[in-house]
Formats: sequence, structure tokens, C-alpha cells
Amino acid sequence: MNVFEAARQVGCIQAAERFGLQLKRSGSRCFTRCLFHTENTPSMCLYPDAGGFYCFGCQEHGDSIRLYQQALGVSALEAAKRLCQDFGLSYDTGKRNKKNHSLLPNPLPRVDARTLAKRLTEYRENVANDLISRIRRAEQQMEALESRLLAQDCDCDDIFQNVAWQSLLKEKSDAQETLAALDGLTLSELLEYMKEGQNGRYRTA
Ligand SMILES: [Zn+2]
Repeated sequence: MNVFEAARQVGCIQAAERFGLQLKRSGSRCFTRCLFHTENTPSMCLYPDAGGFYCFGCQEHGDSIRLYQQALGVSALEAAKRLCQDFGLSYDTGKRNKKNHSLLPNPLPRVDARTLAKRLTEYRENVANDLISRIRRAEQQMEALESRLLAQDCDCDDIFQNVAWQSLLKEKSDAQETLAALDGLTLSELLEYMKEGQNGRYRTA
């Protein structure tokens, strides 16, 4: 077994735990903030065992070696060695034949159309859930603010003119608008939407 084969025995979730990424469990999968693009809300999904990872924000995907490579800023070979070292895995050094091509990493697995569609649907669900919780949060904050203002003898007009209340209202209606738009998107529009998200036109936080 060469160093890449040995390193690939480590799943992405284990690898991410090893360098202390904050993981949010979702069934057998985990979400974490992407290492390949800047974001506030985790959209990088780590699949269990040898399932690899996929970022719904920037579409970067790969295995535990790719993850280590990015986290440590090293080459694929160096990343594979570090994985083996960290997880106590042994491998053939291939020193007898320096031009051993089996040492080269395999190309990354390609994402087929069905998998992409499935992941887009998951992405839509995640964004929708995120929007719904943002709406709820804004509503709760508005309610709390309203009772505070009413206790200070403010009337409805005062509440409507309150800056904090207005910004919560805006946050809520923006999220509602996005949610309504999200519902009507086709998969290819959704893909565009994801790309826009990358450029900051839509952020989940
Ligand atoms: Zn990403």
C-alpha cells in the first residue's frame, strides 16, 4: 500500500477533527466552515468513511488528503505523509523504485449529474432551514423589543420608528423574500444562485 492509499483510509470527518475544525453534525454527515472560501456559515459537508467532502458554497470537493493539504498548506504527498503519521498508518515508501508512478495521487473523484442534483437539493434544504431560523430569530427579537418599548410607555408609532426594530423587520422581510425566490428556482438556477452566494450576493449569515 502506498502513502496515498494508506492516507485515504482516514475519513474526512476524522481528519477535520484532528486539526480541530468546528463540526456541526447532521445525521452521519458533518458541516464545517469551508477551508477553500471565506464564509460565516458552514457549507462544507464532510461525508462519513471514504465519502470525501463537498462544499456547497464553492463546489470544492475531495478526500482527506485534499483537506489536509489545504489546512496545512502543503503538497499532496506531504499531506498524505502527515495523515499517516497522525493516524499511525504504515505504508510502502517505494524507495526501491524512485519513479514509482503508483505514488502519484489518483485524480479526484468526479461528481456525476445525479450526485450534483442530490447535493443541490440538500443545499436548497440547508439554505431554506437557515432562512426559516433567521425569520424566527428576527420575529423573537422584534417581540422582545416591542414588549420592552411598551413597558417604557412607547406607543405603536414609536415602535415603527425604532431603528433596531426597523432593521429587524428588514432582516425578516429580506429572508422571507429570499425564501420565496428559493422555492421557485430550477436546479440550474440554483447552481447560479450558489455561485452568486460565493460572490457575496447571498450569504447564509
Ligand atoms: Zn467552499
